[in-house]
Amino acid sequence: MSEKSRQHQGGNDQMTGPRERLSRGIQLEEPLIFERSRPGRQGFVLQGSDWDVEPVDSKAEFGELFRSEPADLPEVTEPEVVRHFTRLSQWNYSIDTGFYPLGSCTMKYNPKINEAMARLPGFANLHPYAPDQWCQGALELLWRLERILCAVSGLPACSLQPAAGAQGELTGLMCIHAYHDSRKDYGRRKIIVPDSAHGTNPASAAFNGFSVVEIPSGPDGTLSPKAVAEAMDETVAGLMITNPNTLGIFEKEIAEICKIVHDGGGKVYMDGANMNAILGKARPGDFGIDVMHFNVHKTFSTPHGGGGPGGGPICVSKDLEPYLPVPRIERDVDGDTITYRREFDGHQASVGKVKAFWGNFLVYVRAYTYLREYGKDLPRISELAVLNANYVRAKLGETYSVAYPGRCMHEVVFNDSSFKDLGVSTLDVAKRLIDYGFHPPTIYFPLNVEGALMIEPTETEALRAIDEFIEVMEMIHREAEETPELLKEAPRNAFRRRLDETQAARKPVLTYRQSKESR
Ligand SMILES: *Cc1c(COP(=O)(O)O)cnc(C)c1O
Repeated sequence: MSEKSRQHQGGNDQMTGPRERLSRGIQLEEPLIFERSRPGRQGFVLQGSDWDVEPVDSKAEFGELFRSEPADLPEVTEPEVVRHFTRLSQWNYSIDTGFYPLGSCTMKYNPKINEAMARLPGFANLHPYAPDQWCQGALELLWRLERILCAVSGLPACSLQPAAGAQGELTGLMCIHAYHDSRKDYGRRKIIVPDSAHGTNPASAAFNGFSVVEIPSGPDGTLSPKAVAEAMDETVAGLMITNPNTLGIFEKEIAEICKIVHDGGGKVYMDGANMNAILGKARPGDFGIDVMHFNVHKTFSTPHGGGGPGGGPICVSKDLEPYLPVPRIERDVDGDTITYRREFDGHQASVGKVKAFWGNFLVYVRAYTYLREYGKDLPRISELAVLNANYVRAKLGETYSVAYPGRCMHEVVFNDSSFKDLGVSTLDVAKRLIDYGFHPPTIYFPLNVEGALMIEPTETEALRAIDEFIEVMEMIHREAEETPELLKEAPRNAFRRRLDETQAARKPVLTYRQSKESR
């Protein structure tokens, strides 16, 4: 591994014991910014350029544009504003502040050089309507990123347009739909999805007008060729599969499964959310996949988790290439001159545009930077990610109950059988982790595991960070046996106690409102 990539495995250098973590606490009594408002308080006021110059008369300056009613904003000083926002950022858990073992989400550390590259003025200030000749560098970067993704996937063509994994699924299924339609094979209206699939898989299929046929995974957590063969007929458009699957297990029969679907006239879609386990080790195109998406915000280290911009590029086989969204990025070589352009024409069969402009461009600058940094060391990412997950499995497997025996890939799933009889739930364990300063792992997913706890340490955590997490998890298990009420009441140390998560998702309150009267 290069010196650079080694730096990214930083993690915490200070080892803090779980007790110390528990006592660290958070100051909750700080009033919010609106409550601090006092009439007439001001931040920085721009005076004239010289001491003896009159202040700028905004009213005269703006004429009729000057608002007659002042905006209903809190009146606070600049330090109060800075402290308010900085404090909010501290209440937020982030990968920059701690271990984030949220399974299936690949919450790896995002190298800061990605940000430096994305802020280069030539990239950051580029107008999306700039003509091709003004943005050759940006087009070249996108073209090169497409080539890298094709090399990693083992598939010949790529589109960077989809803005997230879920939109990649939608777009990939649109291509499968268009493929069958082009052959007048209109009877193919079903998509087969295993019971361990992420919720977006059946949702994308349904959104495309397909009906979903759910098939069970076997006792070892993988899909059997037999189950696929039984579901396969001439009404099936394709299979959606995740490999490694959401149980963190590699689907060993994948080549056979793809062959069954192909022989039956269908196509195979791969959800690539778990690519962090097989980078440079196995290529989906080689084991029979026709179309897949990457979650660049997971696998290629662009920040995610706050709903911010992501990227869900898809790679497809030769058969499906004609249906990719437009514009495609083309490279023309004329002697020594290489030019890049966005190509709309000549793609009559395309499913059209799925996203404005060319996808989330600056996300791709970050992903490209990350990929260039690793270069041929790419497989090292997966080696470490898989090693770390198996370390957690082996260590925690002594206390908690592993859902499926044997080695895992980049994430490990536990069930609730080691603590359920103590009257403690998976949710209680997850909430108690917050008290110890850790983000909880993914819980109750995959759905086919009872009380699932899904842990994905990623390759960027140092051994001591993982050890600290394991120590805390073991301590929580002892608490479950001795003082279960501590878990029931958790989190006690967080800014908020237990939320009504359903209401928080359905009726989010996104703005602070306070009536003028109550001020
Ligand atoms: C994250 C994830 C998705 C959805 O990807 P987004 O980029 O969040 O839309 C789909 N499948 C699996 C297995 C995932 O982990």
